[in-house]
Amino acid sequence: MKHQETLLNTQPNGKSTLNGFDYNDIGDNHISTSIDTPMKDDAFAMSDEEKKYRISEHFAEIMDILGLDLTDDSLRGTPERVAKMYVEEIFSGLNPKNKPRIALFDNKYKYDQMLVEKNITLNSNCEHHFLPIYGMAHVAYISSGKVIGLSKLNRIVQYFAKRPQVQERLTNQIGNELMKMLDTKDVAVIIDARHMCVSARGIEDNSSSTVTAFYGGKFNEADRKSELHTYIYSK
Ligand SMILES: [Zn+2]
Repeated sequence: MKHQETLLNTQPNGKSTLNGFDYNDIGDNHISTSIDTPMKDDAFAMSDEEKKYRISEHFAEIMDILGLDLTDDSLRGTPERVAKMYVEEIFSGLNPKNKPRIALFDNKYKYDQMLVEKNITLNSNCEHHFLPIYGMAHVAYISSGKVIGLSKLNRIVQYFAKRPQVQERLTNQIGNELMKMLDTKDVAVIIDARHMCVSARGIEDNSSSTVTAFYGGKFNEADRKSELHTYIYSK
């Protein structure tokens, strides 16, 4: 509960509310409680091997409770497969040891305009329903004297996407990391994504997508913003 103090107020009876709403309201409205992913203090006390083992045990139990026959050849390997996928792939960005190591280079070309990496494939998962969020991320920065390899921008997006996420937090986490890494406030992130928890359940809307943006420094200026949008949205 360490990072959840931003919007959650604990009532005297120990029940937490969010401006009068409860946890179900928070999930269905996709509200995030803080910019940091809420993690336990001992999040990495357990080895990855032990995590996979325990997740597979629990996932087998969920399947069993749902009435699925785990002795069937098609289902037998699913708990281990899901556990491996959670720890090594789709939630690997929870562990700082998997953070991409980024080398900075001097801006030898003296390039002083914005650099935009657009249409970065984005695959994440909603932390309220554990269902996919998928779409595009666009990131941009203006060099303060240092530049990074283009593929590293994709890797930073992927790292933060490989967590249970809320799109607003994902956007801000990428923006903050780029500002820190590139030592400049002149950073922008735009994410346009679809949420399966909106399309496949709940409101069951198949046509909407969600757009979020992070603008730092010069990207708050109207001219820079519209220049950025031109690059991203012109075909
Ligand atoms: Zn959701």
